[in-house]
Amino acid sequence: MEVDPLSVAIDGPAGSGKSTVARRVAQELGLTHVDTGAMYRALTHVALCEDIPLDDGEALAARSSQLRLSWEQGRLFVDGEAVDEAIRGPEVTAKVSELSAHAPVRRHMQKLQRSLSWTCPEGVVMEGRDIGSVVLPLAPCKIYLDASAEERARRRAAQTGQELSREKLVAVMAEIERRDRLDSERSESPLQVSPDAHVVDTTAMSLDEVVEECVRIAEASRLRVASPEVMRPFRYHHFRYRVLKAILRPILEGPFRMRVRGSGHEEIPEGLIYACNHISWWDPPVIGVAINRELHFLAKKELFWGPLGWFISLFNSIPIVRGRYDPVAFQRARELLQGGGNLLIFPEGTRRPVGRPGPMKKGLGILAMETGQPYLPCYVEGTPRIWKALWGGETIRVWIGPPTRLHAVEHLRHSLTDRQIQERVAELYLAQVHAFRHRAAEEAV
Ligand code: C5P
Repeated sequence: MEVDPLSVAIDGPAGSGKSTVARRVAQELGLTHVDTGAMYRALTHVALCEDIPLDDGEALAARSSQLRLSWEQGRLFVDGEAVDEAIRGPEVTAKVSELSAHAPVRRHMQKLQRSLSWTCPEGVVMEGRDIGSVVLPLAPCKIYLDASAEERARRRAAQTGQELSREKLVAVMAEIERRDRLDSERSESPLQVSPDAHVVDTTAMSLDEVVEECVRIAEASRLRVASPEVMRPFRYHHFRYRVLKAILRPILEGPFRMRVRGSGHEEIPEGLIYACNHISWWDPPVIGVAINRELHFLAKKELFWGPLGWFISLFNSIPIVRGRYDPVAFQRARELLQGGGNLLIFPEGTRRPVGRPGPMKKGLGILAMETGQPYLPCYVEGTPRIWKALWGGETIRVWIGPPTRLHAVEHLRHSLTDRQIQERVAELYLAQVHAFRHRAAEEAV
């Protein structure tokens, strides 16, 4: 089964041990570690080298959009230069919070961080100040690491190899508290504890204990895959659905060369939303065959008036009015999902040109929020030129999964409106579709 990508957001104040903990947690879980503090530090380093005024947010944001950041074997490179040591020096540390308070800089960095999280198929452990609250508000696992200021100062000092005289400790503590203040009091995405974060006070814990606790929390937040004994054996509700599928499957898999990737969803109890990009009339039957379950479809109302209307209505279709919220269709979809049925929706609301997915409607976000059921992003390719597949000029390919669930919606509602949550779901889904596109392009070469 495919591994669910897991986003672990770790936030906390300076010196709380985030970087060390995040690196170890990422290693243990096989995820990619992203240190967002290092990104702000890298920009500060560049600004200091190039004399960009630290009070000029626009100039800094413009520079950050041209910054080429790359990681090789755990080392950070900026425009090709290794900067690990320079960005940890006292000059950068003293100035970074001033730079990171600028809204345009943050917006650019946050966008970059989000896209990093999407390009790591196995998932990320991302650490910083605003990861759970702003960068990845839908992360299933949020951890806030804390420790007393004195303990944090002690760790920082030990990290820099300084001897621990009382004066030095007091000086490091003052610097840490100054940064905490700047980071928590700024108006733009300040350091804060997300209401749905697990707060871990590490003051009296060893590094190993903290890592163990974080791994435990992260593992517990993975979407649970039911053990085979708990799974209800899958059955088709409509004989005609089963018959049509039995006819179409060998045709699509044989002469039309359909290939399907990702089957882990079969081990997740039913009540799933399959959300697919839409590029051809062939998508519903192709996805219907690709997925080993009986699906219901949201289909635009006009289809039922056409010559194929009677046929479509035989196969689990739910008519929906387009262009506005259709309460009847949504009510039926909700009831279906909550009753353990599976729904296929095309979140773009209509067919889109190949290679240009989006813009998205809010339906996926509404259903995911209201039902609490996971959705599986699906990606289909090749259906607009389906006939070419017959003589080898095309392959129909379908990718399914990974299951994505909105966690703690009631907590998200403290800081985001319903509309904003739906927009985040749309954004996340679109990014998943793009990730599939990249994978498909890579596999094609
Ligand atoms: O974590 P680290 O101490 O390396 O972060 C350096 C600084 O970068 C922080 O003090 C904060 O001002 C800024 N930062 C931020 N948002 C993040 C990560 C770091 O504002 N997500």
